[in-house]
Amino acid sequence: MSEINEILQKSHFSHADIVHMLGLQGKEKTCLFERAAQVKARGIGNRVYFRGLIEFSNICRKNCLYCGIRLDNRNVRRYMLSDDEIISAARFAAENRYGSLVIQSGEVESKSFTGRIENLLRNIHKATGGELRITLSCGEQEHETYKRWYESGAHRYLLRIESSNPELYARLHPRDNDHKFLRRIGCLNSLQETGYQVGTGVMIGLPFQTMDDLAGDLLFMEQFNIDMVGMGPYLEHNGTPLYELRHLLMPREERFQITLKMIAVLRIMMNDINIAATTALQAIDKMGREKAIKVGANVIMPNITPGNHRDDYLLYQDKPCTDENASDCKTCLEARIALADNEIAYGEWGDSGHFRKRNR
Ligand code: SAM
Ligand code: SF4
Repeated sequence: MSEINEILQKSHFSHADIVHMLGLQGKEKTCLFERAAQVKARGIGNRVYFRGLIEFSNICRKNCLYCGIRLDNRNVRRYMLSDDEIISAARFAAENRYGSLVIQSGEVESKSFTGRIENLLRNIHKATGGELRITLSCGEQEHETYKRWYESGAHRYLLRIESSNPELYARLHPRDNDHKFLRRIGCLNSLQETGYQVGTGVMIGLPFQTMDDLAGDLLFMEQFNIDMVGMGPYLEHNGTPLYELRHLLMPREERFQITLKMIAVLRIMMNDINIAATTALQAIDKMGREKAIKVGANVIMPNITPGNHRDDYLLYQDKPCTDENASDCKTCLEARIALADNEIAYGEWGDSGHFRKRNR
């Protein structure tokens, strides 16, 4: 018990400290979780912000080896929501006082895509009276594109680094010019320069991934001064090349537990950032997101994509709630968050406190 107590007294964790914490079990793990919960309660309070998630399109030019909607998966029914569908989902979010939206899609780089997102951003703000903060998650783009989207009203951007170890990153992606680790880093820099609140994250429990890699990921987030984080367990999809390596995976419950420890350690390291309780956690454990809220997460992304397209945005198998509509999703979440002794911060943007401090 004494080693964890000693580590928790430090003002800065070393790589070795983090590896140690990711391996904790039993009482020592409980001790870590309790500290993370205290840090959250004292720093940002036991409040959860909603971001209504719109899975805008599953059309993607990329072939990430883990992802169910990769270009080469021919068994995907491709779709792109209409402007009307998106605006009505945005109105639902505003009427239900969600405070924020996340618009996520596969990666498309084209003039028409850039222009369409620009118009959408302006039209969403018009239709909802500027009540919503909008986060985009549309992959790697040129600096100019990020700038145009920012100027049209997107103020947050999510781009996961997936793994901060360039060698592991290379094993998870095709080895070609469209899947370069350095471009991803360049994009994160470009987003920060443009003025976005920048979010990143990793998948946990990937084949070949070690505890050293995961500790490196948390230090990367700290060093990069990231404002928001979404981390979740890697979940296999049988339509992807990485599925062939499923015999190398640790059991799902273990991926789940390590994800909770990653969230807890990161909350202690960065007490003012926004950390999402991701849907992938719920795919393993029905109460997964609530457990993440208890150990430091403070953001939940209820899915408000029109129900008829939920099944077409399958990044991994066993995605939860694909047969529910937006109102079902909301009711179920309210009860669950109350169970985690947290309250929903309705009608608030919930900007990252870290972002505000970094821009003073
Ligand atoms: N296309 C954009 C991008 O890649 O940044 C945004 C959408 S992408 C589907 C969002 C995230 O889904 C990725 O960053 C990745 O971490 C996650 N993801 C993809 N396949 C996954 C899988 N099999 N298990 C868990 N997460 C996965
Ligand atoms: Fe496309 Fe994103 Fe999936 Fe990669 S993770 S294949 S970029 S949707």
